Amino acid sequence: MRKTFGKLGIAVIVTASLAASAMAQGRPPIETRKVDGTDNVYVFRNQNHMAMFVVTKAGVIATDPVAYGKPNGGEQYLAEIRKVTSQPIKYVIYSHHHFDHISGGKALKDAGARFIAHRNATARLKSLKDPNTVVPDESVGDRGRTIKLGGTTLELKYFGTNHSDSSLVMLLPKEKLMFAVDWISAGTFPGRGMTDSQPLLWIEALKRVKQLDFDRFIPGHPGNGGRITGTKTDIDQLIDVLQVASETVKVEARAGKCWDPAEKELQFPKFAKMPGYENGRWLTVQRFCSLWGRGT
Ligand SMILES: [Zn+2]
Repeated sequence: MRKTFGKLGIAVIVTASLAASAMAQGRPPIETRKVDGTDNVYVFRNQNHMAMFVVTKAGVIATDPVAYGKPNGGEQYLAEIRKVTSQPIKYVIYSHHHFDHISGGKALKDAGARFIAHRNATARLKSLKDPNTVVPDESVGDRGRTIKLGGTTLELKYFGTNHSDSSLVMLLPKEKLMFAVDWISAGTFPGRGMTDSQPLLWIEALKRVKQLDFDRFIPGHPGNGGRITGTKTDIDQLIDVLQVASETVKVEARAGKCWDPAEKELQFPKFAKMPGYENGRWLTVQRFCSLWGRGT
C-alpha cells in the first residue's frame, strides 16, 4: 500500500513539474520554427518531441511524425507543414525505431509520402506490428543513402548501435546541419533512453559522428533552455557524461554495489545541474550497473 502511494506521489510530482516547466517556458504544445540561418529547414515540435522537415521546390522531406500516444497526431504535423508550403510530402525518414518518435504517420502516408528507415528499424516494426506506426516502404543499409530533391541534398548515415541499433543521422551538407535523435542531445542528461542502449558503442559512435562536417544539429528533444539546435560542444559534454557515469558505476559494480545501493545513492555532482538529471540519474546508473555488474 505504501509503495502504491509512493508511486502515485512521484507521478503527481513529475506531471506537476512538467506542466510548470512548460508554463515557465510559455510554449504552446505544438510549434513549428524555421532554423535560423537556413532558407528551408524547419523544426516541428509536438510537446517534448521534435522533428526536422525540409521544404524544397520539388516537395517536402519530412522526418519523425512524433505523435506518440496520439494516433491522429500526424495530422497536426501535416497541418503545420501545410502552413509553410503546399508542396507534396515526398519522404518521411525515421530517425530510429522507437514509437515515441515515429508513431502517427498515417496522415503523411495518405498524403503520398515514401517512408524510409534503417533496415533494423524496418525489421523491428514488421515484427511488432504497432497499429499506429507506418512500416517503411524502403530500408537503408549500413552504408547509408543520399537523397536529392529540389536542390536539397540530404545524406542518411549510420554509425552502428548506440541508443538503438537503427539510428540514422540526417546531414544537410550545404547547411552544415544534422538531425539525430535520442543518441545526441543538447545539454540534457540521459534518461529512459538509456534502457536499451549499448553505451560503450554509443560513446564510440559519438566520437565518430563528430568528424562529420556540420556546425549545428537538431536533437529529438529540446535542449537546455528550450534550444532547438546544439553544437559539437554539446556532443563533447554527452561523451563526458557517459564516460564519467561508466567509469564511476564500474567501480561501484566491482565493489558489489549494483543494483543497490548504487541505483539509490550514486550521484554525479559534475552534471547535477543539467536538465533531466533528477529523473535520469538512476536510469543511467541502472544501465551501467547492467553493463558492469551483469555484463550486458
Ligand atoms: Zn529512442
